[in-house]
Amino acid sequence: MSEPTLPPELVEALQGVRSVGAITGAGISAESGIPTYRGVGGIYDDPEEGHSTVEALSGPTLLRDPDRTWRAVAALARHTIDATPNAAHHALARMEQALERFVLLTQNVDGLHRIAGSRNVIDIHGDVLATRCTSCETRTRLTRVELAALDATPPCPDCNAHLRPDAVLFEELLDPRKVLRMQEAFYREPPDLVLVVGTSAMFPYIAEPVHVAARCGRLTIEVNPEPTPLTNVVGTSLRGPAGVYVPLLAAALGADGD
Ligand SMILES: [Zn+2]
Repeated sequence: MSEPTLPPELVEALQGVRSVGAITGAGISAESGIPTYRGVGGIYDDPEEGHSTVEALSGPTLLRDPDRTWRAVAALARHTIDATPNAAHHALARMEQALERFVLLTQNVDGLHRIAGSRNVIDIHGDVLATRCTSCETRTRLTRVELAALDATPPCPDCNAHLRPDAVLFEELLDPRKVLRMQEAFYREPPDLVLVVGTSAMFPYIAEPVHVAARCGRLTIEVNPEPTPLTNVVGTSLRGPAGVYVPLLAAALGADGD
């Protein structure tokens, strides 16, 4: 079996790229051992919560029974406590270093992009390790160990009110400030390359930046083991693991491994 490579015409097209907008989803973290959110073996099959996990992780439950929501978040954290960034996360962080302009829009709440060194990250669904107070302006961060050990709602260190996860729960709206950042990064002047990794882009706000870039004649690439609804939109679909193809793309963009 030969080593995967990029098509030569793609490598050539990448030479002119100065700005990249990357969009990532559960597939990139699956390669770090974080189960994807649905399906057999997914987090929502957690035997403690079963199919009610989605309900536990919802905005209405947070208001009614915050301890239940926090226990469900802690259970998720226990699944991910040993996860570390993989080659694809690291390659995206190198791209940011090498390029004039780089933005990363992620649907993942596991924080692995920041651990890998990415800085300009729009975590559109939030970050489960971040908390915010439901009463005052205080924001804190938990370690993965602290979060995994929680069995009740943590109190605000400043006012003692309930903290909540700084993540978008089911039935909650996106943070409008992050939506604005996303629109500015992807719509005002679309990046030379929009790279979609490990997501089937089921949410319209995830798919739309790819449609916009394609309409504007930008390079669009998808890295996913399976076809997705974006396959007919992007210029190039690379079928295989993110951990293989994203480092190849980074190298073609002048962001080689160390
Ligand atoms: Zn507070």
